[in-house]
Amino acid sequence: MRILEVREQTVSIASEMANAVISFRHMTVSLVAVVSDVVRNGERLVGFGFNSNGRYAQGGLLKERFIPRLLAADPVDLEGPQGFPVDPVRARRVLMAGEKPGGHGDRAVAVGILDMALWDLVAKVADVPAAQAISRRFGLADPAPDVAVYAAGGYYRPGGDVRELTEEIRRYLDAGYEQVKIKVGGASLDEDRRRIDAVVDVVGDPGRLAVDANGRWSLAEAVAAAEALAPLGLRWLEEPCDPLDFAGHAAVAEVFPQPVATGENLLSVPDVRNLLRHGGLRPGRDVLQMDPALAYGVAEYQGMLALAAGRGWPPSAFVPHGGHQLNLAVAAAFGLGGCESYPGIFQPFGGFADETPVEGGRARLSDAAGLGLERKAGLRPLLERLCEA
Ligand SMILES: [Mg+2]
Repeated sequence: MRILEVREQTVSIASEMANAVISFRHMTVSLVAVVSDVVRNGERLVGFGFNSNGRYAQGGLLKERFIPRLLAADPVDLEGPQGFPVDPVRARRVLMAGEKPGGHGDRAVAVGILDMALWDLVAKVADVPAAQAISRRFGLADPAPDVAVYAAGGYYRPGGDVRELTEEIRRYLDAGYEQVKIKVGGASLDEDRRRIDAVVDVVGDPGRLAVDANGRWSLAEAVAAAEALAPLGLRWLEEPCDPLDFAGHAAVAEVFPQPVATGENLLSVPDVRNLLRHGGLRPGRDVLQMDPALAYGVAEYQGMLALAAGRGWPPSAFVPHGGHQLNLAVAAAFGLGGCESYPGIFQPFGGFADETPVEGGRARLSDAAGLGLERKAGLRPLLERLCEA
């Protein structure tokens, strides 16, 4: 198998919603197509990838550095074990040639986009679902047939009120979700308490509601908020302070008896090592949310899992950010604790295959070869247009 071409396009997913730190008014996604020379049943096999929601498109880095490196690679350098003619794990090394250690930012997102497309492609070539391709590549047991998911929503919206919020949460419960998450930190603590209390009334149990401050609070504010929220018994408190303030996380964990969740803005194994060394987090209680599609891809993620395992963290502590099909496949393959989901948000990229509805808080994996992105009716026209362009 050879890679003939890589196409890239920036797609808008602009919306009026906001978290505590950013508005999504100018949000974009990079969509890529890795075109192979394999033709099956009259159709050319193409792998598709995109970046996780909430980070901007990476067209510059993709076009200037990473796509040219992939296309210039000697096919021998892309070959992997177990009949992988193009191996995403080895491709990562090719993509990172000439890159210094450290400084993991948008570069990690750009590489993650190509990694997603390569997993989609190699699974299609092997004619298996992506979760199966991932578990084979890493020597794991068969992937789980379904994954625990939670509905992440509850964003701040212009003119939005508590009634609108509770209606949104009811839609998630009606759609089969049992756990939900809402934003905090974008209003006063009193106002957020009203939002939390209203949602707890709807879900019936504070242990089914997580809250996410998106790193908005200063350390002092985070500790004060954690102390105020501690008696509520929430599912978790996410990114209470700056994601790179590890001592800050330790201070919050000290006063917050329920799980602290963080990691979506840690984009490399060394970043996760620092969190686990200095963040005061507790294996068996706290939640790690690194997202392979934002952080150099599945091979880097496997390194994070291995590092954490060595410090007593089970795979069940990992619940990746992102709400897309790569992370659903990764969660099934590695036996993770769950996966985020954005029902109805960040369309058409958010959410899973149309034919696999959420039941009892779990999402079944698509049986499509690859990631199953073509099984999303809203996304399929964008994929087709990119191939035709
Ligand atoms: Mg978050």
